[in-house]
Amino acid sequence: MYLSVIIPCYNEESVLAITHQALHDVLGKDAKEHNYDYQLIFINDGSRDNTLSILKELCENDPCSHYISFSRNFGKESAMLAGLEYSSGECVVIMDADMQHPPKLIPTLISYYEEGYDQVVTKRNRTGDAKRKTALAKLYYKIVNSLIDVKLDDGIGDFRLLSRNAASALLSLTEYNRFSKGLFSWIGFRTKVVEMENSERAAGETKWSVRSLLHYGIEGIISFNNKPLRICFYVGTVLILFSLAYILYLLVSYLFYGVDTPGYFTTITAVLLIGGTQLFCIGVLGEYIGRIYYEVKRRPHYIIDDTNMDMKPYRHS
Ligand code: UDP
Ligand code: MG
Repeated sequence: MYLSVIIPCYNEESVLAITHQALHDVLGKDAKEHNYDYQLIFINDGSRDNTLSILKELCENDPCSHYISFSRNFGKESAMLAGLEYSSGECVVIMDADMQHPPKLIPTLISYYEEGYDQVVTKRNRTGDAKRKTALAKLYYKIVNSLIDVKLDDGIGDFRLLSRNAASALLSLTEYNRFSKGLFSWIGFRTKVVEMENSERAAGETKWSVRSLLHYGIEGIISFNNKPLRICFYVGTVLILFSLAYILYLLVSYLFYGVDTPGYFTTITAVLLIGGTQLFCIGVLGEYIGRIYYEVKRRPHYIIDDTNMDMKPYRHS
């Protein structure tokens, strides 16, 4: 068996050495016991700190470790994609660099892979997370799951093992806007969920701001189907029906009682409500058109600036 571990890193200078050591501690022992080989692929996602030089140092004296360095920050989705494309393992583990995804769980993931699962995913609980954040996340998943076709689970993240089959299925999805949570779920395959304890990152800080979380959230809703467009259609239909009923009512009352002018309230509410709805729907349309715009450009997902891997990327054929 040959295992690839993919680790996206963005400004992770303070934890890289810890993670690298922890991975070797766990995998070195397990690989000997169970007779397999492994490679570590670190993807430097355009870090602005010393991540790259630390990676180079770590890889220098360690034939199992490799790095791929992007020319700028392309985002974690692109980093994971590059890792999948360049990995050659029979199965692939994707994990964060900050020790929130404990390396000691990898042998468990592998044992399920050997039982025949193509995806072994970890699900964290939310102990230690702020109450407000937990509630918001719960609400978000409820909304998203009612809107999109694939099923997303709260707590299931990117820490997972994929068989080569599952990995090439992912690589066959070539869309530019990659919402991995959805893609992982979309490809299907036999999936095993492993529970894990929530933990703080070992050092450094999270790259998620409220704004980026919001963007990610919208991405999740829009990138998987056109239900939001359909909702606009329904809202429009309901508005038209209401307007027709109201117009009819006005017409009848004019015919019977004549015209009386006061009507500022109804006029202004109608203008505001319809105007607002129209703008909202145009916004939803715009989101889709924006995505089409990026898709048709067919730009690469990332640009590699430096790497110590000499192999060709593994692509879906
Ligand atoms: N990451 C990345 N590119 C980015 C942002 C994050 O490769 O643009 C990596 C980061 O180095 C880490 C993982 O993605 O290994 C998860 O990031 P983070 O720990 O900030 O997210 P959180 O755990 O807070 O959700
Ligand atoms: Mg983290």
